[in-house]
Amino acid sequence: MADTQKLRKQETLALRKKHIGPSCKLFFKGDPLKIVRASGCYMYDEEGRRYLDCINNVCHVGHCHPHVVSAAMQQMAVLNTNCRFLHDNLVLYAERLTSLFPDKLSVCYFVNSGSEANDLAIRLARTHTGHRDVITLDHAYHGHVTSLIDISPYKFNHPGGEGKPDWVHVAPVADIYRGKYTDKNYTLEELATKYADEVRMLCEEATERSGGVSIFFAESMQSCGGQIVFPPGYLRQVYKHVHAAGGVCLADEVQVGFGRVGSHMWAFQTQGEDVVPDIVTLGKPMGNGHPVSAVITTREIAENFGATGMEYFNTFGGNPVSAAVANAVLDVIENEKLMEHAVMMGSYLKKEFNRLKEKHMMIGDVRGQGMFLGIDLVKDRETREPATAEAAFINKRLKEQYVLLSADGPYRNVLKFKSPLVFSMDDAKELVDKLDKLMTEMEMAEKTVLDKASVNESVSISSQQPQINRKSPSEIQVKV
Ligand code: PMP
Repeated sequence: MADTQKLRKQETLALRKKHIGPSCKLFFKGDPLKIVRASGCYMYDEEGRRYLDCINNVCHVGHCHPHVVSAAMQQMAVLNTNCRFLHDNLVLYAERLTSLFPDKLSVCYFVNSGSEANDLAIRLARTHTGHRDVITLDHAYHGHVTSLIDISPYKFNHPGGEGKPDWVHVAPVADIYRGKYTDKNYTLEELATKYADEVRMLCEEATERSGGVSIFFAESMQSCGGQIVFPPGYLRQVYKHVHAAGGVCLADEVQVGFGRVGSHMWAFQTQGEDVVPDIVTLGKPMGNGHPVSAVITTREIAENFGATGMEYFNTFGGNPVSAAVANAVLDVIENEKLMEHAVMMGSYLKKEFNRLKEKHMMIGDVRGQGMFLGIDLVKDRETREPATAEAAFINKRLKEQYVLLSADGPYRNVLKFKSPLVFSMDDAKELVDKLDKLMTEMEMAEKTVLDKASVNESVSISSQQPQINRKSPSEIQVKV
């Protein structure tokens, strides 16, 4: 089946419309991509056109990495079965994986998706603490199953959402650029305390409501919220408040784990060596595209979960093929020194994005670490009004130029960079160059619109005069 074409693109689309649930959305609505093969950082469509992939954080060590592919093929040809049989792949991988965590995180459960991992984490926390209430961060997304829609403002506060249940408490995300408290008024130290105090107040609210907190649930850097990096000291204070309220703390590393941030294997580690969650969930990059994920926790939490007497069984979780694949991913991260690469490439890209910021007023903020970067687009640097349509326009035009980038955050105005880690210097130059040219074109187009307006204005000020919305992307689209 590999890259043989069975259907023409329009036929694929028609069949999809007929048989796939309409809520399963495609990238690039007007002109979705049909990708037939991929390698490293490149994806190829049915016409053989090559796209530079800046969005696939799942194929972490590069699409179809030969070492990972061969590990899967070899194990698939020998045995695949469930983890009720003893198998070395499972235990050796568990040993290797936990060696990458602080000592207290020593027990694993293997599952098949980030959602499954997060759902299981809620069960572990509730059993361990005896409490039910969950504290989550605004704009967070933690998965598609019922329990996680309930704790994901990204879903329950948006179309089709039903708001939050009583047992969920939403803390403002520690977004120092456009959150509740910002760097306009406070130092980083003050911001960490202000945002952590919000969590402390919710701990009090939960305790009043139901006697305590079961779990504080957060990504260690928030992706859906718009590539948010918390101020130093934030998680340390939050974890202290949550523990004091009898709760446990979870780091959702589904997007940001496995060395994406470069300096550390796990993003929670960037908040300090003493900042150690009680539960960590892993997913996306763990199998480089193969569905394998995990919950890592303490011996004590696992013992309490086991003590209920209810067996935990997961048909596919931790099967020999998944374990072989996940192990091969760690091999590649180590052998190809991808964390060092993420540090180098991330700092180069950040420097270049900041250079673009000096040139292009539409860039309000450049943030992130390693290969987890965001460019926050604004209509006005002073008010920080989000430039949502501009972000959509940039992504559309970049795609026409064979570069895939996406936008996220509550206003969908943050360009999100999260490519496979094997992104090269040439790839970086291509991305920066194309972004730069595109932003220049947009500014020129805007200037043309403004110039025309001022000419019209000097000739006659009439009610017929076109209304110029300085930053209207529809104007921009017409012009470029
Ligand atoms: N947590 C985070 C932070 C995620 O971004 C996602 C998926 N986007 C999930 C959990 C859920 O993972 P999955 O789609 O594998 O169920």
